[in-house]
Amino acid sequence: MPVLARFSFGIGDRFAQQGKAQLRAFRKLEEAGVVVVPVWNKSNREHTFIGSEPQSVLDEARGAVEALDWKHAWHVDADHIRLDTVHRFLSSSDFFTIDVADSIGRPAAEADVVAFVDRHPELLGSVSVPGLGSDLQTTREDVTRVASKYLLAVQEAGRIYRAISGRKGGFIAEVSMDETDTPQTPRDLLVILAALADEGVRLQTIAPKFTGRFNKGVDYVGDLAQFEREFVDDLAVVAFAVARYGLPANLKLSVHSGSDKFSLYPVIRRALQRTGAGLHVKTAGTTWLEELIGLAEAGGPGLAMAKEIYHAALQHVDELCAPYASVIDIQRAKLPSASEVGGWTGTRFVGALRHVPNHPDFNPSFRQLLHVAFKLAAAKGRGYLDIVRANEEVVGRNVTENLFDRHLKPLFLG
Ligand SMILES: [Zn+2]
Repeated sequence: MPVLARFSFGIGDRFAQQGKAQLRAFRKLEEAGVVVVPVWNKSNREHTFIGSEPQSVLDEARGAVEALDWKHAWHVDADHIRLDTVHRFLSSSDFFTIDVADSIGRPAAEADVVAFVDRHPELLGSVSVPGLGSDLQTTREDVTRVASKYLLAVQEAGRIYRAISGRKGGFIAEVSMDETDTPQTPRDLLVILAALADEGVRLQTIAPKFTGRFNKGVDYVGDLAQFEREFVDDLAVVAFAVARYGLPANLKLSVHSGSDKFSLYPVIRRALQRTGAGLHVKTAGTTWLEELIGLAEAGGPGLAMAKEIYHAALQHVDELCAPYASVIDIQRAKLPSASEVGGWTGTRFVGALRHVPNHPDFNPSFRQLLHVAFKLAAAKGRGYLDIVRANEEVVGRNVTENLFDRHLKPLFLG
C-alpha cells in the first residue's frame, strides 16, 4: 500500500495548466525545510462541468514532477467519488476520496445497528480518550443513535473501498463526510472510525464536517475557539481509534475547502505542533482565480477576457451558484455592475478579486461568483486557454505566490 506522508496538500486546477506553477510552491517550502506532498485532486463533478478526463490530471501531475525534478511522493486523488463514478478514475488515480455523505442519516438495518453496539461495549459509559478535554460520557441510546445515522454510510464506504481494491493493487483511501448539513462531533467521529475498522476500510485520512462554514475561496466563518476545541478533540479521537481498532498508523484528518481559511491556519498549526499529528488539506480549486488575476494584471486582451467572464457570470448567477448553495455566501447587492467593472483598470480588478481580506478593494461576493464561474471559461475552450498560455509567466507567478505565501507558509512554516 502506498503510505500517505504526514503532511499532504491537495491542489485543484480546473484547466490543468498550472501543474508546474503549483509544484513550485512545494519546492519553495522544501527549500525552507518542510516537505509537503502534493496531491492533484479533481472530482467527477468538475470533470463533468469542464468536459475533461481523469487521465489529464495524471498527465499534468507527471509533467510537472518531471519538469521540476520533484524527488518526493506525489499523488492523484479521485475526489469525491461514489460507486457509480469510481470506475473512470481507476487507471489514473492512486488516491481515492470515498464520498458517502449522501448516505448519512439514511437508516441502516436495525439488526446491523444492534450488532454494532453489541460488538463495542468499550464505547459505552465513560470513555477515556487521551488528549481529550474530558472523558466521553455515552449511553447505549447515544451510540445507537450515532450508529443509526452513520452505519449505512460506513457500509457504503466499504462497498466502494472493495470495488477499488478488487481492481487496484495499492491505493490511498480517504473517507469524506464533509458535504452534509450537520457537523460531526468528536464522539460521532469515534463511532464512525470504529465502524470503518469493522468494515475493513483501511483509510489513511478522513474528512469530517467541522463546525462553522467552509465557504469556497474565502475565509472561515465560525467560532474559532470552538473550532480549536473540536479539532484538538478530533486529533485525540483519531489517535485513539488507530490504537484501539488497528486502523493505519498514519490515519489523519483531512480539511476540505481548506484554501483561504486564513484564520484557521494558526489554530491548526498549533494543534499539529502540540500533538505531532499529520494533516491533509484539500483546496477548493481557486487556482483558476489566480489565472484570472494574472490575466487582469497582464491588461489588454487578458483583462478584457477577465471582464468578459465576469459579465457573463452576472447574467447566470442563479445557475452558477445552485450546485454550491451550501458552500458559498454571495451578497447580490455587493456585486458590481457590468458597466462599473467595464471601467476598471487591471489593478482595480485584481484588488477586488485577490484574497487579501484587509485590502480596501477586496470584494468576497465578486470573488465567490467568479470562483463558481469556471464553467464559463471552460465554454470558451481554446479562446480561454490560449490567452492563459500567452500570459504564462504572470499567471504562474500569481499561482505560486498564492499557494506558498497565503497557504503553505502559514500552515507549515508559521
Ligand atoms: Zn470535500
